Amino acid sequence: MTGENAWSTHEAAVQRLRDSYRAIPDGSPVRLAKKTTNLFRPRASTDAPGLDVSGLTGVIEVDPVAGTADVQGMCTYEDLVEATLLHGLIPYVVPQLRTITLGGAVTGMGIEATSFRNGLPHESVLEMDVFTGAGEVITTRPGETLFDAFPNSYGSLGYATRLKIALERVPSFVELRHIRFDDATRLVEAITDIAGSPGKREYDGIRVDALDGVAFAPGEYYLTLARWTEEAGSRPSDYTGQRVYYRSIQQRERDVLTMYDYLWRWDTDWFWCSGAFGAQHPVLRRLWPRSKRRSDVYMGLLGLDRRFDIIDRLDRRKGVPLRERVVQDIEVPVERLPEFLSWFDAEIGMRPVWLCPLISTGIHRDGPGEGVGDKWPSYPLEPGRIYVNAGFWGTVPVGPGRDDAPRNRAIERKVHALGGHKSLYSEAFYDRDTFDELYHGRHLAEVKKIYDPDNRLTSLYDKAVKRR
Ligand SMILES: Cc1cc2nc3c(=O)[nH]c(=O)nc-3n(C[C@H](O)[C@H](O)[C@H](O)COP(=O)(O)OP(=O)(O)OC[C@H]3O[C@@H](n4cnc5c(N)ncnc54)[C@H](O)[C@@H]3O)c2cc1C
Repeated sequence: MTGENAWSTHEAAVQRLRDSYRAIPDGSPVRLAKKTTNLFRPRASTDAPGLDVSGLTGVIEVDPVAGTADVQGMCTYEDLVEATLLHGLIPYVVPQLRTITLGGAVTGMGIEATSFRNGLPHESVLEMDVFTGAGEVITTRPGETLFDAFPNSYGSLGYATRLKIALERVPSFVELRHIRFDDATRLVEAITDIAGSPGKREYDGIRVDALDGVAFAPGEYYLTLARWTEEAGSRPSDYTGQRVYYRSIQQRERDVLTMYDYLWRWDTDWFWCSGAFGAQHPVLRRLWPRSKRRSDVYMGLLGLDRRFDIIDRLDRRKGVPLRERVVQDIEVPVERLPEFLSWFDAEIGMRPVWLCPLISTGIHRDGPGEGVGDKWPSYPLEPGRIYVNAGFWGTVPVGPGRDDAPRNRAIERKVHALGGHKSLYSEAFYDRDTFDELYHGRHLAEVKKIYDPDNRLTSLYDKAVKRR
């Protein structure tokens, strides 16, 4: 949508949003009318009219000189990256799934391999327009109450309609080193060594620009160290065809990808989860159209399973125990990672696990330099401290107690005990007091009172935890 008229097109789309708000009867709840989602908890289905955000899906303007972009709130990272890469720029953090939107990642705590040096997506937002529960558009900047409470508010304070973000200059290729560790303590030492000294950020004398890892099995851990580079050296690999990226981590020590393919390396097979649909089987993969090897396609298939209860029916027929869905991302301080992984192996037993080190900068990035600011009250990470995000997405056989979510509850307790946090995009089971303590619920409620005085928007606790 970039171009001369982009700003007026944007204003017209915001006007449609306002009109749709006015069309909702006074006092009725307000929700997004948005078709795609990367949420994993069930959403209440409703025929009630929602906010029309259909015109808020594009990039308004990229300023290659300033290294910034003005982007609409519902723009997917796929579209955003398409526009910025033309100028050799990318957002500081690009979440792995193509259809995650900028507004969704900022309000829902996105993360990626650059997070050990760039923090989380909201930490490179310079300014944001928020359509509040009161139906007003408020421009807010780092350090202001609304801005700072927004990350991890999941739309409970309002919806971002425009965000001005800082961009990072990048070359065309990414060189990867996959390093194996047999021992989680050694893995932690390497993460701490790379991430712990901001001036260094190297391993064996080679710069590290992005860092993530996979725990394949107890005693089999990999870190993938990525270096931005202008020289491919050899022909870049392509994992959108027959080969599957996550397997390459175990199979080769070095690799090269284009920057574009690196950013979407996890989307093609939804990390490893496409295997559940047969998409990694050599025969089926050949038949599976390349354009349909994408996370949103698998998400759609999963929706069908939920709707028709397919897996449960098959399990019952086979007489195998009912499975509990365990789809979560958590993070623990890096030094507690070995304890978490060995507990996880013993109690949950699900593998692989994605690992992503992160350090909240706790500051607001001001273009290429860095400004000052505060921490983020709704998701209190200690700035400067190394955490490791662990992501696991699958099911575990548990039997008849499945509906009480025993494994999910155990994970919540363990993460809490280790001084960590859990993302809220999936199911959560906290009681109100624990939830308010972990996510500063009281502060969020105070901010909500200011920007959503009539309580038109669903509260964070009601969205994330309460079953409807
Ligand atoms: C299986 C799975 C794996 C995931 N893996 C990753 C990952 O690897 N990396 C990562 O970064 N994240 C990951 N996520 C989490 C994802 O970033 C968050 O769920 C994010 O909020 C999704 O954004 P979305 O644009 O799809 O928003 P939606 O799913 O449409 O909405 C998410 C929530 O954000 C609110 N919202 C949406 N748009 C806005 C807006 N413009 N302003 C304010 N609120 C808004 C909605 O009301 C809703 O409560 C994963 C999620 C799942 C289910």
